Amino acid sequence: MSKRGYFGELWFGAKSLLIGLKVTIVEMFKPIVTVQYPREECDITPNYRGHIELVFNSETGGSNCIVCGLCARACPSDCIIVEGEKKEGEKRKTLTRFSLDFTKCSLCGSCVEACNKSAIDYSQDYNIAGFSREEFHYDLIERLNRRHIQPFAAAAGGN
Ligand code: SF4
Ligand code: SF4
Repeated sequence: MSKRGYFGELWFGAKSLLIGLKVTIVEMFKPIVTVQYPREECDITPNYRGHIELVFNSETGGSNCIVCGLCARACPSDCIIVEGEKKEGEKRKTLTRFSLDFTKCSLCGSCVEACNKSAIDYSQDYNIAGFSREEFHYDLIERLNRRHIQPFAAAAGGN
């Protein structure tokens, strides 16, 4: 038997139990912070850096991309393919392909910094999973269309 004696031990045990119960009861009435992922989704901080995405220009109904290729050249991992074609009567190229191989992307941001048309930015997409590498090869034009359900008009009225 310790120095506390029988009743001392009894009191010590009961006191410890009450302290533990107090913590449990206080926590029971605090707001719930656990997110039941994937049934619930978290609010993402605006600073979150997901894979790149074409930025939607609501005035033109498309992208600001002028197919200059600066982003592709700035990418150290060779993740980006940008292609365009010059249609008859148009001054600038129209974006026809913007592919991102996200399997190689290091999220360094060089492409976003290189674009002086603010045509690409980081997505808020954190819910990313797949069964094959090909699922991480993104067609950013298709994604832009899907987000805005409007026909893509890359250079229409663009600058
Ligand atoms: S996203 Fe920007 S840097 Fe890349 S091709 Fe388009 S305009 Fe040029
Ligand atoms: S974030 Fe970096 S690695 Fe990823 S596509 Fe842009 S430049 Fe390439």
